[in-house]
Amino acid sequence: MVPALHASTDLPPDELRRQNSELRRINGLLAGILESVTESFIAVDSNWRFTYANPRVAAQLGRTEEALIGTSLWEAAPDLAGSDFELQYRMVMRERRPVNFETYYKPRGKWYDVHAFPAEGGIAAYVIDTTARKRAEQLVLADEAVKLSDQILNQLPDAILVTDLDGNIHQWLGGAEQMFGYAAQEALGRPVDFLHLPELRDDIRARILADIERSGGFFGEVPCVHKNGARILVETKAKSVLDDSGQPLFLVSINRDVTKRKQTEESLKQSEAKLAEAQQLAHLGSWEWDVRENKVAWSAGMYRIYGLEPHEFRPSYESFLERVHPEDRADTQRIIQSAFDERGSFDHDHRIICPDGSVRTLQARGQMSLDEAGHPIRMVGTAQDITERKRIEEEIRRLNAGLEKRVEERTADLQRSNDDLQQFAYVSSHDLQEPLRTIISYTQLLEKRYRDRLDAQADEFIGFVVEGAQRMSALIADLLAYSRVTNAGPSALSFVDVEAVVASVTMSLTTAAKETGAEIRHDPLPTVCGDEYQLIVLFQNLIANAIKYRGADAPQIRISAERSGQDWLFSVHDNGIGIETEYRERIFGLFKRLHGRDVPGTGLGLAICKKVVERHGGRIWVESQPRAGSTFRFTLPEA
Ligand code: ADP
Repeated sequence: MVPALHASTDLPPDELRRQNSELRRINGLLAGILESVTESFIAVDSNWRFTYANPRVAAQLGRTEEALIGTSLWEAAPDLAGSDFELQYRMVMRERRPVNFETYYKPRGKWYDVHAFPAEGGIAAYVIDTTARKRAEQLVLADEAVKLSDQILNQLPDAILVTDLDGNIHQWLGGAEQMFGYAAQEALGRPVDFLHLPELRDDIRARILADIERSGGFFGEVPCVHKNGARILVETKAKSVLDDSGQPLFLVSINRDVTKRKQTEESLKQSEAKLAEAQQLAHLGSWEWDVRENKVAWSAGMYRIYGLEPHEFRPSYESFLERVHPEDRADTQRIIQSAFDERGSFDHDHRIICPDGSVRTLQARGQMSLDEAGHPIRMVGTAQDITERKRIEEEIRRLNAGLEKRVEERTADLQRSNDDLQQFAYVSSHDLQEPLRTIISYTQLLEKRYRDRLDAQADEFIGFVVEGAQRMSALIADLLAYSRVTNAGPSALSFVDVEAVVASVTMSLTTAAKETGAEIRHDPLPTVCGDEYQLIVLFQNLIANAIKYRGADAPQIRISAERSGQDWLFSVHDNGIGIETEYRERIFGLFKRLHGRDVPGTGLGLAICKKVVERHGGRIWVESQPRAGSTFRFTLPEA
């Protein structure tokens, strides 16, 4: 029932009728108004039972208007208990006078302007929702408060933003323009998420709203985009500012550009990761010992090397020493201590025992860091697992030792059989000479006595025998010379004047030189360290060959020497027939000849030369072109 106005009863009947009809009209009008207003209107009797509730009230209480009539106000709206509403309504009921009050009604989170007055034994109340107006007022107040401090805020590098509950920007302060690139007039009034990275906009909004809902604030990193398109990472600290009743009114956020910090952190993280990877690859770990705090920190690599888990082991100098192999402990301790005392460094290999009982060898290095006053601050260092390297080194050492021993044994064997062989060659060639000489003498005797007494063929046969025997004699003589070279030990070494050697050889070759018109010249020649007899054999063979293997012209032989590092390089040059390239190596072999019987020789001369040079620690080779002469070169150590 609509609370009605009543006409006074002490009026003339006509007037009363008119007034009544007028009142009905007004009451009807009033009812219509009350039905349609968006504000709440109620009326209750003296027992607090609804006599009227407009549709708005019914909707708020979740019942039909009809159902409400007769229902107790306190029963239909239990939330009212203890509120301003209850207090004031009861006062109106009791004191029968109207009141007007403004109140914040927590259960609905709203502000209300309430008019309550006595009516028909009960009370009626008209309730206006003023939340929006209230907010606007407070926002203006807050805006003003913030504006006052603009000057201070604008000095800050951080961007300070005030946004309303819909996310629209109200204030654009501090370093906002600098950070995002927009001037205040471009940003104000726009939804704050225009600053956020477009593809993450929804996510960011959801994240911020969820946090604010839960805790009244937000703290996190928000990917944003600068006006120039650059991506920036912003650390946002936002807090909702509440009104007097504790309701969120707007959001203030302090935003800091952490792009660079983040990049630095990222690259630090990356280089740490790389370091860890490198340490793993190199079986390396690093540690740091804060001397003043006596705190030791190990890298992941250290734990790996020691076979320990970071959660089960607290590194310290003492706990480290416990892991060191007992046999290496005293040394390790002493070396580290002395590095410590001398404010220096150490590099020391020691073994450790891992939890599984295995033993590893580490190369440990450490370096002391000092403060300006020279006091130790910390020691930093590395440990490298060199177990495998050590094992391989050991293996190599063992193999080498074995190998050396075998080589020694072999060399001794070879030396023995070589000596035997030399002995045999020497003895046999020496002893062979004897019967051969007999053969030669008697054949020659035979030839002399019985020439002409035998037939021509017999003479020829005797000639063959003599020639063969002579050749064999020459061969044996050379073999003897060859084996003598080997048999001569280092005891025969002395200072040898090569000039004297060449002079004596030239002398012995005078006849041959005269016969062929050979000219033997030499440059000044040095003194060397060698075996004189062998050097005579060497020059004798080379000069004799230079005469023997002459070309059409008379032999021109030239001997010279020059320094070559620690050695002397000798050359014996001739203008003879020369040697084909393919035979340059071969001619130094035993019995290797390029000529037939027509040219006398045994093929041993150059083999002897090679042996002599090599026994003196030198090298011999020939440089030659066919028909363009040859140069035999060899080195001998300086005296
Ligand atoms: P032999 O002279 O007794 O044959 P060598 O060992 O002294 O033996 O020489 C080997 C071969 O090298 C010779 O047969 C000859 O063909 C060649 N030879 C040596 N010296 C010369 C030289 N100065 N010029 C050309 N050929 C040479």
